[in-house]
This record gives sequence, C-alpha cells and structure tokens, in this order.
Amino acid sequence: MVKPIVIEEGTPEGSWLAWPAMAEWPELPLGEAGTPLIVAPHPDDEILGVAGLMATLGRAELVAVTDGEASHPGSTVHTQAELALIRRAETDEALRRLGLADAVVHRPGQPDGKIDEEALTEVLTGLLSPGRWCLATWREDGHPDHEAVGRAAARACEATGAVLLEYPIWTWHWSAPEDPRVPWDRAFRVPLARNVRDAKQAAIEAFPSQIAPLGPEPADAAILPPHVLARFARPFEVIFR
Ligand SMILES: [Zn+2]
Repeated sequence: MVKPIVIEEGTPEGSWLAWPAMAEWPELPLGEAGTPLIVAPHPDDEILGVAGLMATLGRAELVAVTDGEASHPGSTVHTQAELALIRRAETDEALRRLGLADAVVHRPGQPDGKIDEEALTEVLTGLLSPGRWCLATWREDGHPDHEAVGRAAARACEATGAVLLEYPIWTWHWSAPEDPRVPWDRAFRVPLARNVRDAKQAAIEAFPSQIAPLGPEPADAAILPPHVLARFARPFEVIFR
C-alpha cells in the first residue's frame, strides 16, 4: 500500500497534537527491551523513529540496511557514492550524540530504493533470537523501502520468535487522525525525558545532508524540511506492537 509522498504537503503536526487519542495510548513497558535490534531502511530513520527509545535504554544494535545514497537522485553537488559516505558518517555522529557511540552497526549495503527482502530477512534472522526486540519501520509506512524492511523484519521475527515492534515515519505525513488504514489500536507511547528529547534533537541535527539543502538547485532541496521534522520533536515516540 505505497502512498504518494509529496514533501511539500502532508498533515501538519498541529493536527496530530490536537488529536486527543494520542494522549491516551498506553505507555510501552521497556522492562524486556534488552538490547533491541533497530532496523533502518535509510540513515536517519532510526533517529527520527526511535532515537528517544534508544537513548532512554542506553543500548541498541543497528542494522543500517542501505546507505541512503539515492536521497538526491539529480544532485548537482554530490555523487551517490559521496552521499553514501556522508550519510554513514551522519549516522555514526547521531549515535554518538545519543550516547551510543559503542553501538554495533551492521551495514549490509543494500541498494537504496531496491531492497532485497529475501536477503534482508536472512540477515535479520541471523541476528534475532526468541524474545529479542526488533524495531523496524511499519510494514505499511508508505515508502517502498520502509515497507520492505517491515516485511523482512516480520518474517525474521516469525522465524526466530523475536518480538516485532514497528515504528511509523511517513505515516505521519500521508495519514491523518482516525485514518482507518493505520492500526491505532496497536499504538504505544514511549515518553521522552527532557534530556532525551534534547539528545534526539541533537542527533537529528547530525544529518545536514537531509535537513538542509545540498545546494541551490531544486534537485538538492532538503528531504526533511521543518514541517516534516516537527513530527519528530514530540515529547514521545509511537510504536505499533
Ligand atoms: Zn527512510
């Protein structure tokens, strides 16, 4: 169920915050989180979606599925190879800012935009075990890579007995409060302490290649402009369990 994602549009954060249901979702108990395996289709998804959860736990292991080299296909500033290097370094810096400089990061180096679901399922199956938490982008998040990662994680969890938790990213963009396509009945909140919110904000700012234009040409525009980033400045994160 891939949705058209037009960056200039999308549901304003004010509409989400005005939705009373969000305040009523239960808090996600973190007692059995262990060291969760976080699966990110592109460098920055893990930070936007679950930086606060990772910082709260102080533990995480990351699978950075692609290097995000296709974020600016027509860039006049950077080649794809350069973007891959830049975005890898941005993830490392973001983790450092969360106090997770020592986190293990796996980089299977899958092509941005063409994730091989079978191969990824195998990688994840090798890293998961019964009861281990696996956090992946929601299977119906609307971006093909995000959905492929969610499906691969779901299959790997089923095969290993790991616990699947899904985090929405682009869902906040294309859906709206009460949207029947979204499993709100599976939504849990992860409240973020003040210092965790600050660390998350600092980690988001470690991605200048995504939050600022690479250059003046339209092909070099920011992927995550302020109205998109606003959704990730909330004092809580949302997980579908
Ligand atoms: Zn992404």
